[in-house]
Amino acid sequence: MNPQTESQPSLSFHLIPAQAGKEGGAISLPKSPSYLDPETLEIGTEKPAPSQRRLTFEPHGRNLLVLNPDRVPLRVNDLNAPRVHLLEEGDHLLIGNQHLLATALYNCPEIGPPPSANIGRACPVCRNTFTSEDRVYHCGSCGGVLHLEEGDNPDESLQCALSVTHCLTCNHPINLEEGYITQGIFEQ
Ligand SMILES: [Zn+2]
Ligand SMILES: [Zn+2]
Repeated sequence: MNPQTESQPSLSFHLIPAQAGKEGGAISLPKSPSYLDPETLEIGTEKPAPSQRRLTFEPHGRNLLVLNPDRVPLRVNDLNAPRVHLLEEGDHLLIGNQHLLATALYNCPEIGPPPSANIGRACPVCRNTFTSEDRVYHCGSCGGVLHLEEGDNPDESLQCALSVTHCLTCNHPINLEEGYITQGIFEQ
């Protein structure tokens, strides 16, 4: 798999319990493989012991791979799921005949100093070169950066990320708002 297109540093998957409402009790899945206890819904990144029954989750961009080697009862959108299954945002999971969870994508824009590889390079919007003092928005798809300095006066602070709607390198939409991008979870 190509890490350039697979990695989406700003996007992560959450599992949202049906009972808890939209914001409460969400389980945030790490970018690396993680292991869910089907009884307690505890999530961990340590490889489980062979005696422990776990569901394994692996995010791949906008998809979420679920592996079920221990044959935990698992239904996805009211159908029995195979032992390896690719989930999408908005899928409903019934785990162990008791826990109903929905998958949702959460956007957390990455804003901070530019990576060292970008220092000295020109910003694609304003053509000023990036310095280590700059504050930039990182594209969630290609890792490209655009100025996003703090302050209300555009004459004094470079806010290049606000002046475009899509990344100029890969055309991925720029989303500066932190929150769920999956709509209508548990609504019908
Ligand atoms: Zn700029
Ligand atoms: Zn990009």
